[in-house]
Amino acid sequence: MSTFSNAMEVFRLLPKTNCRDCGDKTCLAFAGNVFLGQKQLGQCPHVPADIAQKYSSQEKIRSIQEEDFMRNMEKMKSMLRELDLEERAKKIGATYADNKLSLNIMGKKFSINNQEDVFTDLHANHWLLGTSLSYINLCQGVPLSGNWVPLRELPSGKDWYRLFGQQCELILKKTADNYSDLFEDLVHIFSGRQIAKQFDADIALILSPFPLVPMLICYWKPEEGMESSLNLFFDDTAERNMGIDALYSLGVGIAKMLEVLARQHSGR
Ligand code: SF4
Repeated sequence: MSTFSNAMEVFRLLPKTNCRDCGDKTCLAFAGNVFLGQKQLGQCPHVPADIAQKYSSQEKIRSIQEEDFMRNMEKMKSMLRELDLEERAKKIGATYADNKLSLNIMGKKFSINNQEDVFTDLHANHWLLGTSLSYINLCQGVPLSGNWVPLRELPSGKDWYRLFGQQCELILKKTADNYSDLFEDLVHIFSGRQIAKQFDADIALILSPFPLVPMLICYWKPEEGMESSLNLFFDDTAERNMGIDALYSLGVGIAKMLEVLARQHSGR
């Protein structure tokens, strides 16, 4: 799959002349192929080189990040095998019983033992396992400061921020724009907690994917010709309790999970 969220995003970048120079019958067909990862945007000779280049480098960055994620997961699994889970649980806000460490992930129980056997009602995909292992292995147990900052203000956040904006915040914003029950569902299904106004946002809600890595979602509704906006903030201790690459994966994974939930809800 490409870096685009849907084929219309690609279509908007095309001249829409249906000239067939790319080998497809229409610009829309070409857009669909680019979205599915079967063609590159630059294969339309009428897309300006700087635009094609911009999207092609994003594609490369993303696939490098995915490879890094999988490599990192193998490392995290071997670290888990050596861990004293009982000691670890005390440090990271987890519990320990029956040789399993248990975490509360957005209101749902997630348990794991040293052999990587997972016990949870959550959908146990790569994203959940990867981010949980990073938290269990890397969390330094630093108490929360209560000081919310955007990803770019975390010590290593600058390199990740632009992609994070596209892959996480933009997806969350679109979901919030199109799915009016989103924030209500975040409260009821994922134990989110609405809080008093932060940064003058219309809605400010805290999710707790991990005990020492909460996230603050702030949403500003559209008004008088101004688009809505959405930003995600972390406690300024977050990088010490998880690592920047895992924080990035966490935000992107949650955004994608909520996008799917919204789609299922609307029957699209
Ligand atoms: S070459 Fe470009 S403009 Fe022509 S049909 Fe393909 S996508 Fe459309």
